[in-house]
This record gives sequence, structure tokens and C-alpha cells, in this order.
Amino acid sequence: MAKTVYPGSFDPISYGHIDLAKRGVKILGELIVAVARNVTKTTLFSPDERVEMVRKVFCDVPGVTVDSYDGMTVDYVRSIGADTILRGIRTISDFEYESQMALTNRHFTKDVEMVFMMTSNEYSFLSSHFIKEVVALGGDVSAFVPALGEERMKAKLTKQSP
Ligand code: ADP
Repeated sequence: MAKTVYPGSFDPISYGHIDLAKRGVKILGELIVAVARNVTKTTLFSPDERVEMVRKVFCDVPGVTVDSYDGMTVDYVRSIGADTILRGIRTISDFEYESQMALTNRHFTKDVEMVFMMTSNEYSFLSSHFIKEVVALGGDVSAFVPALGEERMKAKLTKQSP
């Protein structure tokens, strides 16, 4: 059975991420949702905040554990004895990005396989980036993220009136 890492920045974790992980663990067996601490893009939440929110989401999901890592994903995957990376695909642009990343990874190791799963229809338009934009503009994102993520985004992104 595979030991699979689902890596990402999870800034914050959305129902799209959660759905993918839950469907992934059913077919892949052991799944480690791994929060990348040192991502190149600017994040709203600190690594510890992102890890805390992800942990709360998966605390009672059988087969799923949560971890975080620094550095290259493939190095982390090998360091914990895993052999597979799960990533989600929503759009053609995801496919282009993911295929380039997969081929780059393959340059560094041939021992790690990448598995791609299509998003579920209802989450196909969800991205953490646009969720943050909606919150900043005062919109309701309760259908997109768990309550904790929504509260924390609101605290960071919306100014309270005096
Ligand atoms: P990264 O910064 O590494 O791209 P993200 O946290 O944005 O990390 O996403 C992690 C993974 O989850 C990526 O493979 C991404 O394609 C996938 N993903 C993000 N949103 C969704 C969604 N709505 N449905 C399915 N997969 C998703």
C-alpha cells in the first residue's frame, strides 16, 4: 500500500482541499497532509496557524495525519519513507503547473510517484486566493472554508468600524 503525501500551502484550508484529501485516502491508503512552511508565495497565515487549522479539520478522519515541512517536497517525502504525492487538478492551468512540477520532481528523484485527482464539481472554482479576496470585500465564504478559517480571515482582512 502506498504512503502518500498531500502537500500544499493551505492558506487557509478549504472544502476543496478537504474533499480531495478524503477522496484520496479512500483509494491511496495512508495519507499525510503536509503543510509547506516556506512557500515562495506570500501567505496570509503563518506556518503554525496553517498547520493548526489543518490539524483541526482532520483530527478525526481515519487514515489521515497532518505534518509540516521545510524545503523541497520530494526530500520531505523521502525522509518520512513515503512514495507518492497527491495533488489536485481544477483547471487546465493547474494541469500545466502540476505537470511542470511533476517533471521537475522527477529530475530529483525517480522513486516518488505523483498522483493527480480531479476536483469535485462543486469545488472546482475554489481557490484559497479568491476566498481571501471575497473575505476582504466583505463576502460570505462559509460555503468554502470551515468556520475557524473564516473567522481568522475576517480578523485579518476586514477592518472593524470604530
Ligand atoms: P500550493 O500552494 O502548493 O499550490 P494549495 O494549498 O493552493 O497549495 O493547494 C494544494 C493542492 O490542493 C494543489 O494540488 C491544488 O491544486 C489542490 N487544490 C486546491 N484547491 C482545490 C480544489 N478546490 N479542489 C481540488 N483540489 C484543490
